[in-house]
Amino acid sequence: MRKRMITAAAAAATLLLLADPAAAAAPTPGAAGAGDAYYPTYGNGGYDVSHYDIRLRYQPETDQLQGTTTILATATENLSRFNLDFALDVDEVLVNGRPAAYRSTGEQELEVTPAAPLARGSRATVVVRYRGVPSKTVRYGFNAWLRTPDGGVIAGEPEGAWWWFPSNDHPFDKATFDVSVAVPDGTQAISNGTLVSQRSELGWTRYNWRQTKPQATYLATLAVGKFDITTGTSPSGIPVVNAYSKDLGDNDGAARASVERTGEIVDWLSGYLGPYPFTSAGGYVPNVTTRYALESQTRVFYSPRQFANGSNTSVVVHELAHQWYGDSVSVQRWSDIWLNEGFARYAQWLWSESEGEGTAQELADWVYASHPAEDPFWTVKPGDPGPDEQFALPVYDRGAVAVHALRNTVGDQKFFEILRGWPAERRFGNATVADFRAYAEKTAGRSLAEVFDTWLFTAAKPAAPTVPTGSVGFAARTTAPTEPRSWQKIQAATHEH
Ligand SMILES: [Zn+2]
Repeated sequence: MRKRMITAAAAAATLLLLADPAAAAAPTPGAAGAGDAYYPTYGNGGYDVSHYDIRLRYQPETDQLQGTTTILATATENLSRFNLDFALDVDEVLVNGRPAAYRSTGEQELEVTPAAPLARGSRATVVVRYRGVPSKTVRYGFNAWLRTPDGGVIAGEPEGAWWWFPSNDHPFDKATFDVSVAVPDGTQAISNGTLVSQRSELGWTRYNWRQTKPQATYLATLAVGKFDITTGTSPSGIPVVNAYSKDLGDNDGAARASVERTGEIVDWLSGYLGPYPFTSAGGYVPNVTTRYALESQTRVFYSPRQFANGSNTSVVVHELAHQWYGDSVSVQRWSDIWLNEGFARYAQWLWSESEGEGTAQELADWVYASHPAEDPFWTVKPGDPGPDEQFALPVYDRGAVAVHALRNTVGDQKFFEILRGWPAERRFGNATVADFRAYAEKTAGRSLAEVFDTWLFTAAKPAAPTVPTGSVGFAARTTAPTEPRSWQKIQAATHEH
């Protein structure tokens, strides 16, 4: 009898221990940041978004944006309140159909207190109505919204979403998107994915875009202006939609001669990276004065200045390679940026090799020889560059040398197996540099500690590596390397993201 009682008591105690403490916990506020060491306030804690429905009206003459965004989310904690990231003026917030209290705090935090707490595991529908003039909205001393003579463009990394929709603004929380934008007749609105419909009513045309694959918030893009839109398919049948501002002037021909090769390049990249992950591809060149590009998912943003010296297919290769490395497989934390930039840069090297303008080995040799040991270039660790150097040259060039060192270490057969296998392994997900290393080691069947530590995590110029027998490279050369023919074009794309 006594034994049974003890057993029962022990069972009860075990049950208490097994009970999820979070489920029983009183509701508390979700974190105001996602816990990213580089950008502590970006993203939020306590919930996971599955879908954004962004419905906008935009007036190009005044830059006035009016919107309603509906967010589908699941609480991952018992929440008394939660944060969104947003910078425009909010008129109303509803949670599960009921008005919620809200206030803007910090630079881009929108604190939302629902009428009733959200239980862990429960679904919530959050509606935010808002308005604002994005070009007048400065946060942290800058503004990612690009005002143009005939509209506006948003394409920013790591910040971009705050100027047009409320979100959980961190790449770890990916979601599908519907973007519907009404603009005056004669003006176009470009966004991600597929244009499913457009109709005109009372002088306004509404464009409805759908992105049905998971997308990070910074990869959502919007461009409003007067565009010439071209459509087609890649040789393998992937639908391609490109758009060009009607006033690109002298850069118009070179921009089209580059971006119109999107379908061809997507199929070429598929040979190295595996099947294209999305249902459409393309890019757009608005009349902005910036000089960077961004791998916005399925619809790459290019600045006309990238084509100011003639066509540049290398930058197109870079941005399209990101559709696999960065968009389909996204960083878990911003410190994992090498997984994006090292590989997009390396794709440019493979393109150079295929165009007969310099092999990947020659490009690696050139980077290695171009930066003496005392060059601060070598103090940046591509595997964890820090927020100030996240998009600095070493993340790209030393990052690509790291990819090439991996190739020389495991050999071409294993290397191309890794290059193609990784996007399949992690499709539509997130990953860290450590995850990639584990995958590469599993595929290669050996430890790769040395190559990763040396090329990604050492703040000094590594000693010239040993190259495989029969291979010539780095300091194994007896003569100084010469500048590969593709070098200038590759560097012209340095301000790409
Ligand atoms: Zn890039």
